[in-house]
Amino acid sequence: MRARLLIGNWKMNKTASEAVLFVEQLSRLLGDFSGIHVGLAPPFTALHAVRTTLGRESALLLGAQDLHWEDKGAYTGEISGPMLKDLGCRFVLIGHSERRHLFGESDAATNKKVAAAVRHGLQPVLCIGERLEEREGNLTDSVIERQLKAGLAGLAPEAIRGVAIAYEPVWAIGTGRAATPEQAVEVHLKTRSILNELVEPGCGQRIPILYGGSVTPQNLSSFLASSEVDGALVGGACLDPSSFGTLIHITKTPAG
Ligand code: PEP
Repeated sequence: MRARLLIGNWKMNKTASEAVLFVEQLSRLLGDFSGIHVGLAPPFTALHAVRTTLGRESALLLGAQDLHWEDKGAYTGEISGPMLKDLGCRFVLIGHSERRHLFGESDAATNKKVAAAVRHGLQPVLCIGERLEEREGNLTDSVIERQLKAGLAGLAPEAIRGVAIAYEPVWAIGTGRAATPEQAVEVHLKTRSILNELVEPGCGQRIPILYGGSVTPQNLSSFLASSEVDGALVGGACLDPSSFGTLIHITKTPAG
C-alpha cells in the first residue's frame, strides 16, 4: 500500500519571518498525522527558518522547489543538492510547469536535476503535465510519456523506485479550473503503465503519483476517492495555515 502524500508548494511567497509565523500557527492546528506524509516546499530563503522552527525531528518533511544539477561551482544564483541536504531537506520538486514554461527548463535539465537529487539522497518529485492546447490536440499521453522518459533517462531502477511523480496539467495550475478526478485518474493510470514498461513490471504500482492543479479543501476528497491518486501537490491553498491544516486532515481521512 502506498502511503498518501500531501505537498505544499509556496512558490515565491512568504519571507522567512512570515514562514515562521505560518509554521507556528500550523503546529498549533495539527494533530497527529501518522500514516500519511506531509511536505512543505518554502522558497530557498525560508528553508532554514522553517527547519529551525519545526525542529529536526518534525514529521513535516521539508523540501525545496528546485535545485541545480551540479554540486558546486560558478553557477551564480543557483542552489545545489548538498546545500539543500545540509538544510534538512528531504525532497525536491523538479520540472514544475512554472520552471518548464516560464524559465524554459528542458526535459534534459529535469533529467540532470533528478539524477542530482538521487545522488544527494533527496526524493525527486518529478512534475509532469500537458498544456491546454496539447490536451485539446489529444497529445496528453505523448507529452506525459516524453516528460517521464526524458526525466528518468539513465537512472537505475532502484533510483526510480524512490521517485514521486506529480501530475499537474498546466491549464489547471493556479487557474481555479481543476482537472476532473476522472481526467486525473486516466493520466495516473497511463503514467503507471509507462513506468511498468520503462523500468520494470510493478514499478508503476509502487511509485506515489500526486495530482496537482487548483486543489482546494473543497475538491481534494474527490481526487483521493480513487486509489490511483496518492495525494496532492498544492500551491495557492497551502499558503494559509488553516487551509493547509484542513488539506492535511482530509488527506488523513480514509476514502469512502
Ligand atoms: C502548484 O504550484 O504545483 C499548483 C498545483 O498550484 P495551485 O494549487 O495553486 O494550482
